[in-house]
Amino acid sequence: MTKETLRKCIGCFNNKNCQTMIKITRESSSGKIFINPNSKIFGRSVYLCYNDLCIANSFKKNKLAKFLKADLTEELKEKLKTIHKE
Ligand SMILES: [Zn+2]
Repeated sequence: MTKETLRKCIGCFNNKNCQTMIKITRESSSGKIFINPNSKIFGRSVYLCYNDLCIANSFKKNKLAKFLKADLTEELKEKLKTIHKE
């Protein structure tokens, strides 16, 4: 059995198994933002549950942007809004 790594969702502040969450990483070297990046991407990361409420919450007051210390493009926001429906 693999050890569960718990991460806090910035939408609802619940701790969950990070395997079941959306990971958003701002790569340190490039400043680019990746959704569910591969293990080669290193940088500041935040986690969100796969649901509308947490994703919408993370956009409020630019919370997600502040956590990442980066600006979010509309494209990225649209991607996040639809990712859990895939
Ligand atoms: Zn959540």
